[in-house]
Amino acid sequence: MIDLRSDTVTQPTAAMRKAMANAEVGDDVYGDDPTVNRLQQRAAEMLGFEDALFTSSGTQANLLALMSHCERGDEYICGQLAHNYKYEAGGAAILGSIQPQPIANNADGSLPLTEVIAAIKPDDIHFARTKLLSLENTIGGKVLPQAYLAEAQQLAFYHGLKIHLDGARIANAAVAQGIRIADIAQHFDSVSVCLSKGLCAPVGSLLLGSEHFISRARRWRKMLGGGMRQAGILAAAAEIALTQQVERLADDHANAAALAAGLTEIDEIAAGVEVHTNMVFATVAEELVPLLVETLAEQGILISAAKRLRLVTHKDISAADITRVVAACKDFFAKLP
Ligand SMILES: *Cc1c(COP(=O)(O)O)cnc(C)c1O
Repeated sequence: MIDLRSDTVTQPTAAMRKAMANAEVGDDVYGDDPTVNRLQQRAAEMLGFEDALFTSSGTQANLLALMSHCERGDEYICGQLAHNYKYEAGGAAILGSIQPQPIANNADGSLPLTEVIAAIKPDDIHFARTKLLSLENTIGGKVLPQAYLAEAQQLAFYHGLKIHLDGARIANAAVAQGIRIADIAQHFDSVSVCLSKGLCAPVGSLLLGSEHFISRARRWRKMLGGGMRQAGILAAAAEIALTQQVERLADDHANAAALAAGLTEIDEIAAGVEVHTNMVFATVAEELVPLLVETLAEQGILISAAKRLRLVTHKDISAADITRVVAACKDFFAKLP
């Protein structure tokens, strides 16, 4: 099977399974799990924050961030395409009574900062209170430039907003730029990080921020049912994700580039191929999409298809797999009547 639907499908490594089997554990709700505590401490040091919290998912980490920065009746500014607006079931509004103020993303995934400033509401009883600016990096596989992050951080500071990063794939952004994760994280008051995508942990994300912020998030996590007990079993794999799987992402980026280059050799899709970090997007005539997806699936190749095809590279995709996928796509178009 060549599963390109997402990097969430990665299997845990042998080292992770071993670490999980041997993890020293305690009751994390009492703060007693040494493996969870070590993960959180290492993550805080590595990303440059006072504290960190291990969460069940990226969705939970983002929701905790929104609820910890904002009170009921506050709002956060984010992109129309933001995961924490579009793909998290409206959790901020439903569970946090926090209003999103989405803004159309630029083509590069950034938010136009003049639009952000225009969306900040004055202190007036008619308006929700604007508290937070939330960005995402990578977004649709795209890396936000470091200079842009610095500008956004300054904007937030001058307007009295907090600034959060949905950094589900922050490690991809760091590796793509040859910088440390901390170099990206330094521009934010809080960051969420997925360990269960390209970093291959079976379960878990992290939320990072100040001690005060994390203590608020810990309370919300308990309320939301995210207080886990012998969570060190999961944290053991998560620690390996954070400390041993980051550099390997360069292979995923190289495989994605090779896949894009191969697809570009197909006339029918050449114009619509885009590649960013570990994601390849391709535009195919709409009426062909179901047949293409089905034909590939028959050969054990799984891809995501919405308006565009999305093919995501990860640890369990090899260079040989890429060759096979390109050949299968070429074959599909060659055999079209
Ligand atoms: C996957 C993802 C999340 C959510 O992570 P889950 O662990 O699937 O809940 C949040 N933000 C972005 C940008 C993501 O890609």
